[in-house]
Amino acid sequence: MLAMTEEEHLMALQRSDEKLRYIINNLTKRSVERSVAEKIVPDGMRKSLVVRCHDLSGHFALDRTVSKIMERYYFARVRKYVRYHIKCCPECVLNKVPKGHQQDELHPIPPGKRPFETIHLDHIGPFIKSTSGNSHILVLVDNLTKYVKLYAMRRCDTDSILKCLKSFILLHGLLKRIISDRGTAFTSKRFETYFESGGIKHTLISVRHPQSNGQVKRVNSTLVPVLQANMTNERSWDKKLLEVESQLNNSPNKTVGDTPFRILYGYHASFHDEVLRHLTIGEEYVDVNKLQEQARVNIEKEQVKWKNRYDQKHTKPVKYKVREVVFLRRPAIHTVADVTVKEGRLYVTTAHASHLKVYRVGADCDNVPNHITDENKEATDSDEVQFDEKEKTEKVPDQPASREKRKPSWLRDYTS
Ligand SMILES: [Zn+2]
Repeated sequence: MLAMTEEEHLMALQRSDEKLRYIINNLTKRSVERSVAEKIVPDGMRKSLVVRCHDLSGHFALDRTVSKIMERYYFARVRKYVRYHIKCCPECVLNKVPKGHQQDELHPIPPGKRPFETIHLDHIGPFIKSTSGNSHILVLVDNLTKYVKLYAMRRCDTDSILKCLKSFILLHGLLKRIISDRGTAFTSKRFETYFESGGIKHTLISVRHPQSNGQVKRVNSTLVPVLQANMTNERSWDKKLLEVESQLNNSPNKTVGDTPFRILYGYHASFHDEVLRHLTIGEEYVDVNKLQEQARVNIEKEQVKWKNRYDQKHTKPVKYKVREVVFLRRPAIHTVADVTVKEGRLYVTTAHASHLKVYRVGADCDNVPNHITDENKEATDSDEVQFDEKEKTEKVPDQPASREKRKPSWLRDYTS
C-alpha cells in the first residue's frame, strides 16, 4: 500500500477535480501565490474536512472552526458552509444555549363583543380565616368593561369555584370564554365537563405568560390594599367584600378610560356618602353601546402597546411546518403520560415554542431559517466574494446557466 501524506492526498484529489484544476491554473496564471491555490479543497472533501475540524475537534463555534480549517485549507464560501454545518450539528443544536432574546410573542386576548362574554378568573388567598370560615377570594373580571366580581370562599377547590361561577352565571348569563391559569382547581375534569355542557371555551394561560391574565392580576394587586383599608377586624374581611367590589367597579380604570360600572350601565353610580357627586356629575345617561365601543377601542390600543413592548424584548418565534423535525428540550419532569398515542403511530405532546429547536437539514436555500439567511450579508468576506466573481465571469465548465434556481454548491452536501 502506498503511504500518502495529507498534502499529497489533497493534491491528488485536486488534480482529479476538473473544476479545481481550472481554477488553480487561473489563479496561478494571475500570479497569485501557488501556496494559496494549493490550499483549495475539492468539493468532495469539504464535508469530511468540516467534520474533522468541528465534530471531531470539540464542537467549537463558527469562528474557531473556520480558522482551524483556514490554517491549512480553503474552499469557496467556507464560512457559510461551516455555519450551515453547525446549524445541522445535533450536538450543537441540542447543547448550546441560544444567545440573545428568548423566542416569544404575545397574543393578547381580544375584548369580548358584549359584557361578560369573556371572563378572567383567578383566586387569591389564603387569608386569615374569617368568622364565617372563608379564607380565599375568587376574582372574576370581565375583559370588556373590566367589571369585577368577588366571591369569598371557604376552600379553593373545584366545588367552591363552580358554586361561585353558577351564581355569577345566574346574574349575568352564560359566558363564552373563561381565561384562567393552570391552577389545579381550574384544570380538573369536572371543571371541563361543566364548561363543555355550557358551551364555554376555557383558555388556560401558559405558566410562562401570566401577563395574559393581566386583567385579573391587576385587580388582585389593588384588591388587597383596598381590602385592608376597609377592614376594621381582620377576621371580618369577607363582610367588606361587596363594598370593595363596588369601589373597584366605580373607580376609573386606566385601560378602558372610564369606570367599569358606567361602561356596563351607562351612568355613574352614586352612593350615600357621595352626595356631592350628584351636583358635579348629574344623572346623565349615555348609550352603553357607545361606551362599550370606546372601551373596546381603548383596550385594543393598550394591547398594541403591550404587545410591542413585549415583542421588542423577545425574538419572533420560528414558524414550524407540519412534519418538520425539531428537537424538544424538556425539563427533567418529563413523564410518559405527557406523550399520548394518536392514530396508531403518531405520538402527541404539547410544548412551548421556546422549548423547540429547529433541525432543518437540506432545507432549500430560500427556506433556510432566518438565522441562516439573515447572515447572507456576511458573504461580503472579501476573499469569498472574489472567488464567487471568478466563478461567474470566467465560465467554469460546471457552472449551471440558471445559477439562482439551483441549490448553492455549499448546501449540496446537506441535501437529504
Ligand atoms: Zn457541533
